Amino acid sequence: MIHSKGLLGLLLCGSASMLTGTPQPAHVAATGQLAPQLTVLPKPAVTWVVSPNADARTKPDGITCLVIHDTQTPGVVSARIIANHFGNPRAEASAHFIIGKAGEIIQCVDESRRAWHVGPSLMDGVPKVNDYSIGIELVNAEDGSDPFTEAQYRSLASLSAHLVSRYTIPIGRIIGHRDVAMPLGRKQDPADNFAWDRFRTDLGTLLAKGGYPLKAAFRP
Ligand SMILES: [Zn+2]
Repeated sequence: MIHSKGLLGLLLCGSASMLTGTPQPAHVAATGQLAPQLTVLPKPAVTWVVSPNADARTKPDGITCLVIHDTQTPGVVSARIIANHFGNPRAEASAHFIIGKAGEIIQCVDESRRAWHVGPSLMDGVPKVNDYSIGIELVNAEDGSDPFTEAQYRSLASLSAHLVSRYTIPIGRIIGHRDVAMPLGRKQDPADNFAWDRFRTDLGTLLAKGGYPLKAAFRP
């Protein structure tokens, strides 16, 4: 199951880069001060299972989008199974976060580093989406009927609220792997039954409740 077609399908990745630098979120000014109007919402609890399948970002402060995936793993419920796969150097694949069916969140790659989750890709004319994105995997069969669980939606909204507020990622730049994988049609995740409207509504609610200005979240 670990070596299922779906997981192996994640193998492609951007070329390595050895650039160095101190990562800073996009809204940290040159002075190191947080922009005063922005509130960083709390990060939900994560369990770390480090993946070696990551490298330096070409622009450490250039995180501008969030890519939602599913794992295409029928019968798998646990994020740990996927994390173990990402822990294998031969997999040559990873994501920053995996959310299991029970809502548990495993982090495999620090956000400051580039995870290998998208492969050949293009977003708004800019290639190599791995360079400037954070990847979240949802454990799911990707058959269109396997449900994304309530616990997964809750964890995804909570994690995304943190990331959006931490890196000032516009909600319009939270996209699916299928939307940016090249050539178009190469990927189908997240599956058709992933409820984007519900996710965006939940996320907007958390951001608003947490005092994060929605005008920042909805900027173009
Ligand atoms: Zn994917």
